[in-house]
Amino acid sequence: MEFKDKMEQLIAELNNYNYHYYTLDQPLVSDKEYDALYDELVALEQETSVTLPDSPTQRVGGEILKGFAPHRHQAPLWSLDKAQNIEQLRTWHERVIRLVNDYNTKNPDNTLPSPCYALELKFDGLTLNLTYQDGRLVQASTRGNGTVGEGILSQVKTIKSVPLTIPYADGTIEVQGEGIMNLSVLENYNKTAAEPLKNARNAAAGALRNLSPKVTAERKLNAYFYNVGYSDDITFNDHKEMMNFLRENRLKVNPYIFYFEQFDDVMEQLADIEKGRSDLDYLIDGAVVKVTDFRIREALGYTDKFPRWAVAYKFEAEETTTVLQSVTWNVGRTGKITPLARVEPVDLAGVTVQNCTLNNIGDIERKNLKFALGSRVFIRRSNDVIPEILGKVTEEQDGEEILYPEECPSCGFPLEQRGAHLFCNNKTGCKPQIVARITHFASRDAMDIETFSDKTAIQSSMS
Ligand SMILES: [Zn+2]
Repeated sequence: MEFKDKMEQLIAELNNYNYHYYTLDQPLVSDKEYDALYDELVALEQETSVTLPDSPTQRVGGEILKGFAPHRHQAPLWSLDKAQNIEQLRTWHERVIRLVNDYNTKNPDNTLPSPCYALELKFDGLTLNLTYQDGRLVQASTRGNGTVGEGILSQVKTIKSVPLTIPYADGTIEVQGEGIMNLSVLENYNKTAAEPLKNARNAAAGALRNLSPKVTAERKLNAYFYNVGYSDDITFNDHKEMMNFLRENRLKVNPYIFYFEQFDDVMEQLADIEKGRSDLDYLIDGAVVKVTDFRIREALGYTDKFPRWAVAYKFEAEETTTVLQSVTWNVGRTGKITPLARVEPVDLAGVTVQNCTLNNIGDIERKNLKFALGSRVFIRRSNDVIPEILGKVTEEQDGEEILYPEECPSCGFPLEQRGAHLFCNNKTGCKPQIVARITHFASRDAMDIETFSDKTAIQSSMS
């Protein structure tokens, strides 16, 4: 069995490199060195027709599956109580304090400490439940109804930050986390994809619930873990201990975890997270506040839906869906024709959105929006400009066609297409161009006319 020793050695080496690369973000070797070892393992597996259970070659995604086998979770996967605003968060906190005080009054000999809090990001992806048996990943499933989920082991194995084996080998444990697609990965994927993906959350969830694990593998997903939901015999005193257990077992834990003794500090940090969320390389839709002490957790217990010791604070959505109603075409200063989309009014981050940008006709084609009039589209808010349409919600070409103008909507001059854009070349006779030019030069030269407005520009262009 000499080949098996060699195989085990290669696998251990490759898995260690994987762990440093995908989980710790600290590569130990170059891609070239990694690939050479990987190819050696593939050759050995082909030669011997043996594949060991923790071989990284299993991560490419195998045959197309017939369906999802149900998986009954060892312990329920709870949903979370939600706070939509700071007042509701305070109310949650006051209840925690009240319940702890009640407990302490009833149990004067065995009082609980003052609650401390962990603050974590709430990832916008698909919840995963991993089952390890004696150190080996034997199942991965969706949350489902919290009691029974769908088995997606082959799909989850393609996530390279998910360890196929872990050091902890004493019976069964289940850990929960979130499968996500990093935004940079989504962007790269879309550069060459025949059908670009509109939204990282849907891209991750769709890939994990795809019956072809090869499709899952192509999406290069990632995952963060935040809970040990079940174990045969391991117990923790607090959240920190549990998170350390996850890290020691090579499960990827997000670096943004904050611990606080004062609830006011939680609030302050929440505001910082919300402010900085657009800098993250993944989507979050909020943050989760958890009581850290496990004795307090036990004393607080559960409602029929969620634990009383945790609450999700939802940020305002950055993306939503609405119906694309019509497209109008506007002439800019350089003669460039820009499509402006009118959408069914929808609330996004506290603002009612009615207009969205479509950039240009190349963008309409690229985002598969040519036949999207009257259908539902994703929109994303942006700090600088009006919201952007990301794409259609469904793949079907079931909407009305967006017709491109052949003549300038303002002066009737025939339009010319250059690259992704349409242009009106009637520089001297197209009013919006003239007006925009005058306004532009006026503002550029900082002319000494504070009241110089579009109206004045129109008048001077006519004189
Ligand atoms: Zn024109």
